[in-house]
Amino acid sequence: MLKEPIKAGKIDPGTRVKNFDEVILGYTEKDALKEADRCLGCKTSPCSSGCPVGIDIRKFIQEIKQKKYEDAYRTITEKNNFPAICGRVCPAEYQCRKACVLSKKGVPFASREAINIHLLERFSGDYGGNNHLGIIRADNTNISNCKVAVIGAGPSGLCVAGELARNGIDAHIYESLHKPGGVLVYGIPAFRLPMLIVEKEIENLKKLGVKITLNFLAGKTKTLDELFNEGYNAVFLGVGAGVPAFLDIKGEELSNIYSANEFLTRVNLMMSRDFPEYHTPINIGKKIVVIGGGNTAIDSARSALRLQKISGINPSVTILYRRTLLELPARRPEIEHAEEEGIKFKFLVQPVSFDGNSDGFVKGIRLLKCELGEPDSSGRRKPIPIKDSEFTEECDIAIIAVGVNPNQLFIKSTNGINQDKWGNVIIDNETMMTSLKNVYAGGDIVGGEGTVIEAMGMAKKAVRGIIKAMYEKC
Ligand code: FAD
Ligand code: SF4
Repeated sequence: MLKEPIKAGKIDPGTRVKNFDEVILGYTEKDALKEADRCLGCKTSPCSSGCPVGIDIRKFIQEIKQKKYEDAYRTITEKNNFPAICGRVCPAEYQCRKACVLSKKGVPFASREAINIHLLERFSGDYGGNNHLGIIRADNTNISNCKVAVIGAGPSGLCVAGELARNGIDAHIYESLHKPGGVLVYGIPAFRLPMLIVEKEIENLKKLGVKITLNFLAGKTKTLDELFNEGYNAVFLGVGAGVPAFLDIKGEELSNIYSANEFLTRVNLMMSRDFPEYHTPINIGKKIVVIGGGNTAIDSARSALRLQKISGINPSVTILYRRTLLELPARRPEIEHAEEEGIKFKFLVQPVSFDGNSDGFVKGIRLLKCELGEPDSSGRRKPIPIKDSEFTEECDIAIIAVGVNPNQLFIKSTNGINQDKWGNVIIDNETMMTSLKNVYAGGDIVGGEGTVIEAMGMAKKAVRGIIKAMYEKC
């Protein structure tokens, strides 16, 4: 008989909504050994085929089983420099866990029986961090006279720089914000990914020799030509997609309507959750609605609820989504956590307009009820508004989390980088080179599923492209 999956400990909902501390506690050594023991060690390792960076999952789990924790960390970091980050945020239920032979087939995401690969990865990542194992250099390079500029310190830029440095190539990251990490520090809240974890894994890259210059807006502080004139052999663009999409409906300009990007950046990076100790303010209402169904919507809702609780307001946060629970694209454990914390969901509703009061503040959102039709281009059943079904949901804060668009500043200040109709940078799929010679791109700026691990998968491909070009040139 199959053994029961091992759950990780977590803080109870009543306690955790009063702060921004990490919710999932991770595996103890005993838990990790028990969970690793459930792995069948399948020869064909189907789980690895579900990993965008190709970690040898079977191998690292067997190493945990044998208590060879350093070996497990080394096996993962051969392919992924950020195991503690990815062990916390990877949508494993849609990737490696879904491919695990123990997961039930024919379901849109992994069933609970699948090995908790992400929790075992996190255990290994934390072991490496706590024991200062760092990242080991590859010893196969003779192109150390080359140097690469990396624009953006999100997962894609960090991964490119780390992989180049591992291969002995000088990598210098230029980041516009005052902290490196991209969405990992300005978007994903600390209760899912503590800042310290991100800092530790970035520190490993610095020890490899990666240089990071902050408060540097590439395209303005220096142009692409100026960077090439400084002797860089290649430039990687990992500028992400941080421009919020809006609903484009009446009343959207009213006060107290935030984009999720602004809301989360204020709360996380600018620390408005500790206002007035930190100087960035945030408005917290009595009745908050969040429009959308992805990770950004869930993160916004859970942050807003914490802010209400900390301010002594009786929490009321409702997520409004056009489809149903089954189609919600956010990570499944996070949906569960949101429900446990008291976030309400209203499914099958589509925003029509916002209502405001005489002072110009939002006071409600008008919605149409929907029903699901045939699947659309995304493969999910399309929401169809029902005629004459309009109703109003009261709110004094609205957060719009319906998607993001590519960051344009660098691209618009540089001639010759081709983009598609959505503004994504067009790249050569083999090398990740853009329409400009020696300029590569990856991560959210080129489109795709918009996950940390996918951005890293693209970054690794770009490094292979850059190294190949360098062998020919340097
Ligand atoms: P980013 O992380 O956006 O980093 C781009 C960096 O470039 C930023 O630091 C930006 O400041 C910098 N930059 C931009 N322009 C310039 C310039 N001109 N000069 C210098 N620097 C510049 N994915 C998951 O896998 N799991 C999750 O749980 C998850 N949750 C998410 C929650 C939220 C709230 C959001 C917004 C996203 C989430 N994602 C999640 C998606 C994931 O974070 C992104 O896909 C990933 O961060 C993309 O990495 P990137 O390097 O392409 O871009
Ligand atoms: Fe273990 Fe599942 Fe991978 Fe098989 S598919 S090796 S059981 S994690």
